[in-house]
Amino acid sequence: MRYVSTRGGMPPASFSEILLGGLAPDGGLVLPEAYPRIDDATLTRWRALPYAELAFEILRLYAPDIPEADLRELCARTYTARAFGSDEIVPLLQLEPGLQLLRLSNGPTLAFKDVAMQLLGNLFEYVLAREGRELNILGATSGDTGSAAEYAMRGKRGVRVFMLSPHGRMSAFQTAQMFSLADPNIFNLAVQGVFDDCQDMVKAVSNDLAFKQRWAIGTVNSINWARVVAQVVYYFKGWFAATTSNDQRVSFAVPSGNFGNVLAGHIARMMGLPISRLVVATNENDVLDEFFRTGRYRPRGSAETQQTSSPSMDISKASNFERFVHDLLGGATGQVADLWKDLETRGEFDLSDTPEFAAIGDFGFVSGRSLHANRVATIRETRERYGVVVDTHTADGLYVARQWREPGVPMLCLETAQPAKFADTIREALGIEPPRPAAFEGIESRAQRFTLMPRDVTMLKHYIAERVLASRAG
Ligand SMILES: *Cc1c(COP(=O)(O)O)cnc(C)c1O
Repeated sequence: MRYVSTRGGMPPASFSEILLGGLAPDGGLVLPEAYPRIDDATLTRWRALPYAELAFEILRLYAPDIPEADLRELCARTYTARAFGSDEIVPLLQLEPGLQLLRLSNGPTLAFKDVAMQLLGNLFEYVLAREGRELNILGATSGDTGSAAEYAMRGKRGVRVFMLSPHGRMSAFQTAQMFSLADPNIFNLAVQGVFDDCQDMVKAVSNDLAFKQRWAIGTVNSINWARVVAQVVYYFKGWFAATTSNDQRVSFAVPSGNFGNVLAGHIARMMGLPISRLVVATNENDVLDEFFRTGRYRPRGSAETQQTSSPSMDISKASNFERFVHDLLGGATGQVADLWKDLETRGEFDLSDTPEFAAIGDFGFVSGRSLHANRVATIRETRERYGVVVDTHTADGLYVARQWREPGVPMLCLETAQPAKFADTIREALGIEPPRPAAFEGIESRAQRFTLMPRDVTMLKHYIAERVLASRAG
């Protein structure tokens, strides 16, 4: 398996070569030359596998250059009941016949990003040690990515994390989760701006190839390919849990922001997993919903990005979306490059009159959006009807999922975070404090450690260089 760029400007590379990288050198995103197809016999064999073994089987298809015994060990060390709360790792809970919750948020930071990120921490440490290198991870987060990355990388040898977050825009719980970490390889930077500003700063640093090389800068944001692949695993696991034979189809409803999670569903479907619908659910920041309804992709600027009660989806430039557009256009890399040039010059592109958009149904995608009031009502109804408390992101998915159910096809709603992370809205909806795992009691009152950072790329570079030198010195 070799990796190429969505824009066609990268010589084919191996998994180990792209693992630590961010954008492809031509500004595109890396993708495998082709997705492996899973036949019926393989599906049957995989049905009985525990999570770590299933992860190994899927990952080895995408990472053939990592020795199998090592990869198996990395998966076994990552997907433990100790880290994820149960042997199932991602348990399936039936709300009513045909409507289920796939619980992805039982990892160390109580959000689905742990599932991929915990593996990434072990993969990074392994590859860096093997190659005698070090890596400075530069990331942007609106909450969940940052804490998941920090909890995956804390104490890992050869790795430092520089994490940018929009100052004052994360929940108190998320802020405490990140800023209370005392590990010397973790650096929290609170940027005076919104999430997209943070992301732009990360991109600006990554585009300075000389700086990037000199300081061994890498990323773990949602464009990282290994994260996407690690997420493919739970679509298989969820499908196995909801079916008894290989001719059954299920649908997935996915609260979406950067399009990383639902992209993994798309890849599972391209691999041959019998998925009916992939429901893209957005909040008020509905760039993706607009595209799937109209064919027009119109990312918004940071000034137009609303702060909502599902903050991990307050994203108006879906960083993984280019990978799907590449597939939608049948791998026409020149066309992808042209579209992203249009985005730069005109701020949008429009596929509404193309045969490719007319055939978008072949990819299973449908979409919808929720408003704050919809999420609050959904949180209430879910508790009243099923006795289950869901967070605001999961509520968004549940709300949109209802519009797309089909008779005889189970709808699996991905639970992407636990309600404890978004207490304000739970209080508003239910008048109670959300349940909180014991390990997180009193987290807001722990000492916090962070550095304020203006929206200034030069200052950011300076800070990174200084800290790397200081920590090498000792
Ligand atoms: C990151 C996140 C999302 C959005 O996932 P994408 O992969 O960016 O589409 C949704 N819900 C929660 C809780 C998240 O942390």
